[in-house]
Amino acid sequence: MRRSRSPPRPEAILTVAAMLRQLPGGLPGDQGRRRSYAFRRADGALEMALADAVNEAGDTPDAVSRALLASLAELAGERPGRAAVDALCVADRQFLMRALAAHLGHQGGWFDATCMHCASPFDFRLDPTGLPVKEAGDAFPLARLVLDDKPLTLRVPCGADQIRVLREPVEQRREALLRGLEVPDPESGSALPDQLTQEHIAHCEAALEAQAPEITREVAACCPECGQVNSVGIDPYAVLAHNPAGLLAEVHRLAWHYHWSEADILALPRGRRKNYLALIDAARGMTG
Ligand SMILES: [Zn+2]
Repeated sequence: MRRSRSPPRPEAILTVAAMLRQLPGGLPGDQGRRRSYAFRRADGALEMALADAVNEAGDTPDAVSRALLASLAELAGERPGRAAVDALCVADRQFLMRALAAHLGHQGGWFDATCMHCASPFDFRLDPTGLPVKEAGDAFPLARLVLDDKPLTLRVPCGADQIRVLREPVEQRREALLRGLEVPDPESGSALPDQLTQEHIAHCEAALEAQAPEITREVAACCPECGQVNSVGIDPYAVLAHNPAGLLAEVHRLAWHYHWSEADILALPRGRRKNYLALIDAARGMTG
């Protein structure tokens, strides 16, 4: 006879992940950059919160902020709010989204590509968390340069800047982004010219790139058909596209079998959930 019973109680939901690494950029603090972070435990509740965050988001940078808010237990020594995840530089946000994929057990896998030389489709195996990360420059999050003989200070763009420029017409975004990044001199005011040329913009972007951290977003993959090397883009936000249908099916099977509530099942650590599913399969094998 089946009886409704709660699964073994998990430890606190907010247990800090054992794996504590450092952000390539970090947030500014009194004693320099604060680079620590830790994810919440990888359980079904986190996977479901992530799926909800993506559903509720208006655009990709908003989805990244919501996903980070749902998944980070600690950021720069504190429990993060929306302002903190929005203030992370773009590369930190990409780095975290890739780390989150690994944290949820999605790291590594097969990537599809089409050869740009012979048009053959091919696939290759890759673990994006193992790709190189460029550290921030010494002046990060600032970049100092001279533009038209005037000293100019810019700040490396963050999530809030990405969200802000999405409200601008596409053709004005590069300039709108840049104008929002200036740290004006309190005495002399803005050093950015009223009319920004393509050269101005390129000069500013180069100065920012020199200070900004960066994660690898392109890899060289060899086509097995013709042997030529292809450059293949690796989406840093791939974890956002993860479909929760599989998780829902697992919750359904466990609820059906054990009569546990959705909340109880989602609170199970991922590994334990998988173990129970394996036990259900084994039992079915014995009886069927
Ligand atoms: Zn080829």
